[in-house]
Amino acid sequence: MWIVPESAIPGLVDEQSAFEAIENCFAAMARRDAYNFPVVREALGEGRQYGFKSGLDRVGGIMGVKAGGYFPGNAARGIPNHQSTVYLFDPESGKPTAMVGGNLLTALRTAAASSLSIKYLARKEAKVLGMVGAGHQSAFQMRAALRQRAFEKVVGWNLHPEMLSRLAETATELGLPFEAVELDQLGAEADVIITITSSFAPILVDSHIRPGTHLACMGTDTKGKQEVAPEILARAAVFTDEVAQSVSIGEAQHAVAGGLLAEEAITELGAVINGAHPGRESGDAVTVFDGTGVGLQDLAVASKAVELAIAAGLAQKVDF
Ligand code: NAD
Repeated sequence: MWIVPESAIPGLVDEQSAFEAIENCFAAMARRDAYNFPVVREALGEGRQYGFKSGLDRVGGIMGVKAGGYFPGNAARGIPNHQSTVYLFDPESGKPTAMVGGNLLTALRTAAASSLSIKYLARKEAKVLGMVGAGHQSAFQMRAALRQRAFEKVVGWNLHPEMLSRLAETATELGLPFEAVELDQLGAEADVIITITSSFAPILVDSHIRPGTHLACMGTDTKGKQEVAPEILARAAVFTDEVAQSVSIGEAQHAVAGGLLAEEAITELGAVINGAHPGRESGDAVTVFDGTGVGLQDLAVASKAVELAIAAGLAQKVDF
């Protein structure tokens, strides 16, 4: 069994390799070569959350689980609040094959998902990127998005304005101007909007969204969370990583529960990647990607990390 510690990941898996791993992963899901097992997520009290995301890629030969959660007391201990580890197993024998640090991989695979949605769904001439949210994930999201279109400017909003410096610094690092704006201006200017917050109520409402906008809603990954009004999904072409998660723990849970969106109207992004669905059908359409975060994404990037770590001599082998 191989061990790839968290400390080895930054030098091994980059945005491009994460992007390719997630593109293949979504395509395999849409071909039904790969599927996710039901998610387990438990509230442990005092704000702590713990859970398991798992799945099997029959054709890729990948099986495993990401065990992880959110531990708000960690900041005081000097370690990240989000903690996760991926365990991989041989699908034929069930024998463990690898244990991989999952913190950076989670950020990379989440950013790769929204970036893929921009590649396949945003208008080609998109020029302004709108960011709603300025937490840990937001910088990864911005970096990955900027790889997909010739963006000329980033506009951003966050409930806690003191956090906006993260967006400003990331945009500067990438050579783009950044402007902190109110939501009306963000919706009026942005061609692509990424939402990546822990919100439990709509931040963006229908009147904010112009025709032709692509939204990647990435923050809602739990029952009850919500970033955009259900009316936006009602008029949009809605895509997701996995429909079962989208309607239960994703952004679409609210529009579906309210009768504004039919489950059957939600398309897996993998179907667009595979060419089975055209994706954006007009320049005026509003497209939404409901990125809920599936276990197979974690397994795909962890598997890539193991492959690269073995090649670089950075994986530790243990008898297990
Ligand atoms: P973080 O704690 O670093 O940042 C939280 C962000 O949410 C900040 O911008 C904060 O200002 C904002 N926020 C907090 N409470 C809010 C509220 N009530 N209303 C509006 N905004 C609020 O978290 P992070 O690591 O950046 O993660 C952001 C979100 O993304 C979380 O909800 C997390 O669960 C989710 N996430 C999703 C995936 C996925 O695959 N879809 C993966 C990782 C994280």
